Amino acid sequence: MIGTVWKPEEEILGALQNAKNIFVVGCGGCAKVARSGGQLEVDKMVKLLESNGKNIIAAGVPERTCYIQFVRTFFDPKMSELKECDAVLVLGCGGAVQVVRQATEEYGLVKHVYSGLNSVGHMDTIVPGEYFLEQCSECGDCVLNLTGAICPVTKCSKGLLNGPCGGSKDGKCEVDPERDCAWVLIYERLKALGQLENVSTYWEPKDYSKAARPRKLVF
Ligand code: SF4
Ligand code: SF4
Repeated sequence: MIGTVWKPEEEILGALQNAKNIFVVGCGGCAKVARSGGQLEVDKMVKLLESNGKNIIAAGVPERTCYIQFVRTFFDPKMSELKECDAVLVLGCGGAVQVVRQATEEYGLVKHVYSGLNSVGHMDTIVPGEYFLEQCSECGDCVLNLTGAICPVTKCSKGLLNGPCGGSKDGKCEVDPERDCAWVLIYERLKALGQLENVSTYWEPKDYSKAARPRKLVF
């Protein structure tokens, strides 16, 4: 999922300084799981904005705000509110904000669309509801098949592909001693799997042209 956290309140209020009538849009997907854009957080944002003199024209949570069809389904019955608002505030990832902007343009509207959240990475659930961890940087050229399913791009502080930097101490990373060294983890895992020969694989510098942005999936 996409990890998201609230922007500082003063940043949100600053973005909305010239807007009086606000339409608040959450997201029932990742932002709900991340506790930043579900119904509870939308209600909290409505209260915050009202206490700062804003008029909330409408507020709600599409099933997935990164998916244009769900956004259209959400907005269609609220068209008068969408036309009336001065700005739409989205509690969703950066993609969701842009899908909402796209939807307003499709309706022929020129609306200010602002983000209430910062997107902080591709997060995986480690302890449900409590702890999420970035494990994949979506590099477009996955090496997990040779690293025992542990990602050196994301879990090594330096993103090293060809073994450790030499600074690891007692299995911990020299950049952050609280963290395990990814290459120690990879070594131990490959040893347990009987695939230690994999550590002598030489990786050419990654071909980031495979990850040129914006990336697309075309079916
Ligand atoms: S190598 Fe790491 S960052 Fe790249 S796709 Fe695989 S898990 Fe993701
Ligand atoms: S100590 Fe390990 S995880 Fe940290 S930067 Fe060096 S190789 Fe990467």
